[in-house]
Amino acid sequence: MQTTILPNILGVAEQYNLEADRKTIGKKETRFKCPFCHADANKSRKYFLSINEGKNVFKCWSCQESGGVLRLISFLENKSEQEVIEQLRESNGFNYQKHPAERLTRSQLKMIGYEKIDWIKNREYDVEMYKHFRNYVYQKWLNFVEYKQDFAYQQLYIGLLSGKFQQTVKQIEKDEKELNISLLDKAIKKLSSAERCVEELEGEEFIASVCNRKHPFYENIDNLIAALELKTKKERI
Ligand SMILES: [Zn+2]
Repeated sequence: MQTTILPNILGVAEQYNLEADRKTIGKKETRFKCPFCHADANKSRKYFLSINEGKNVFKCWSCQESGGVLRLISFLENKSEQEVIEQLRESNGFNYQKHPAERLTRSQLKMIGYEKIDWIKNREYDVEMYKHFRNYVYQKWLNFVEYKQDFAYQQLYIGLLSGKFQQTVKQIEKDEKELNISLLDKAIKKLSSAERCVEELEGEEFIASVCNRKHPFYENIDNLIAALELKTKKERI
């Protein structure tokens, strides 16, 4: 059994916005993008950092970095482990970090269909069931966040094509505040990335045709070809 004096490692990963592989939530090992080596940063569906909540430890399958929750916090906060321990002592370690599901606010819970969850009562009733429920709620929340992130991206893309980019950015920022999650950064990153899967490209092309515009990728290619043609023409002259 894990001694409760230490923070929950999943809670720490979530607090520092490490991106989780949703398929692994609730499993013995939960996978995340590795904050140490970033070897999986630009690879979709690759998550090298493995976190074992039961043992409160982590390991990266790429850079081999491994350790307990204190090591993870000390890296993420750029402090020595001794400093982390002091900090935990001061803040009474016990409540310092809960499971991510238990840290959801009331309004966040409401967004995924729960009026209120009394985690303590749940735990008292049946510890195993409480653990399953915790993971279930967390998974549901991550699904909701992903849905909102996809939606923010679509909005941003439409905003770009319809000439209302700034308004869209403002709207997304408003949503971010309301939901207390990050949306804009990811959407902008995706918008500026050259990588697209087929479904994403199809979705974008559809929006482009509705807006009566060409997909920006093809527009860029046309511009590039035009520029090259101009260059070769000039060279010939
Ligand atoms: Zn790594």
